[in-house]
Amino acid sequence: MMWVKRGVIALIGVGLVLVIGFNLFKKQIAERAFNQGVERNAGINRSAGLPDGLHVYLCGTGSPMADPRRAGPCLGILAGQKAYVFDVGSGGSRNLGSMGFPMPRLQGVYLTHLHSDHIDGLGELLLGSWIGGARSTPTPIHGPVGTADVVDGFNMAYRIDSTYRVAHHGTGIANPAGFGGQAVEIELPAGPAGQSVVFDDGDLRITALRVDHAPIDPAFGYRIDYKDRSVSISGDTIYHPGFVAASQGVDLMLHEALNQEMVSAIGARLAERGQARGAKIFSDILDYHATPEDAARAAQEAGVRELVLYHLVPPLPVDLIELAFVGEAKSYFDGPITVGRDGMLISLPAGSEEVIRSRPGF
Ligand SMILES: [Zn+2]
Ligand SMILES: [Zn+2]
Repeated sequence: MMWVKRGVIALIGVGLVLVIGFNLFKKQIAERAFNQGVERNAGINRSAGLPDGLHVYLCGTGSPMADPRRAGPCLGILAGQKAYVFDVGSGGSRNLGSMGFPMPRLQGVYLTHLHSDHIDGLGELLLGSWIGGARSTPTPIHGPVGTADVVDGFNMAYRIDSTYRVAHHGTGIANPAGFGGQAVEIELPAGPAGQSVVFDDGDLRITALRVDHAPIDPAFGYRIDYKDRSVSISGDTIYHPGFVAASQGVDLMLHEALNQEMVSAIGARLAERGQARGAKIFSDILDYHATPEDAARAAQEAGVRELVLYHLVPPLPVDLIELAFVGEAKSYFDGPITVGRDGMLISLPAGSEEVIRSRPGF
């Protein structure tokens, strides 16, 4: 047993030396770690190595609820050389920065509807697009009727800041002509299946379509086709046959999801604890979102390759709870279901059937 004792003493000795060594040199270790981080990340164009295709940046997979793990709804789309952002909830813009989203290629923003959680990161995105993207014209913001009021408001809120940027960096960096947003309102044909192609250059086609988020009207979903790859984005909606029809055969369906049992459990506890206002809100939101099972049914009926759930309600503070969130959804859809997490990049290379996942910068 002597050798065991000696071994333990030796291990404790090595541990002590390591702890003392770390404490003596921790400032130098920290400086080295920082310098290595700068070397690896600063000025590196992380989108440069991506194959030609359709790339989906999950910049926000959460909802309006406080959630340290998920920003408000935000999806970055890179289609060939053209970049777009579909909704920009709070925190979404910073996630795009962390992921190396190619802001200089941003062609515009598309809004699904004007609920606060889908637009409250717009100011930050417009600032990033203006300065980071070296814009010489305002960023186009496409969305339903009312988008012009929203964009006017953000432009006004950031106007004073813009004068500081111009004065400090000069017009070579902050060209006043590129400041802010320019609204482009979309009006769809009437009826639940109303849709309209809002961009088409031969390789890339963006279709806006009506979804059902009553009483919010209009509320849009989108379908994006680039060469032979495609995605559909539900925005906020209950199960909607029009969205299913428009999503036929897409590679990736991004569908919002709310777990009714979880939201009801939170509401019940709020009521028990005398918080009637909170309980009422948790009850109200049940009727205008889809469940994970609804999303899975939509994916199955549309014959999509994969389903990604985003705009997750309620917040899921640890990964394990995602299993409970998904509920019975897997029994409704034959393909893979992914619970979206901020920082995921899903790539669909053109001319292939590949679906490649990565987490750049996270
Ligand atoms: Zn909404
Ligand atoms: Zn929402």
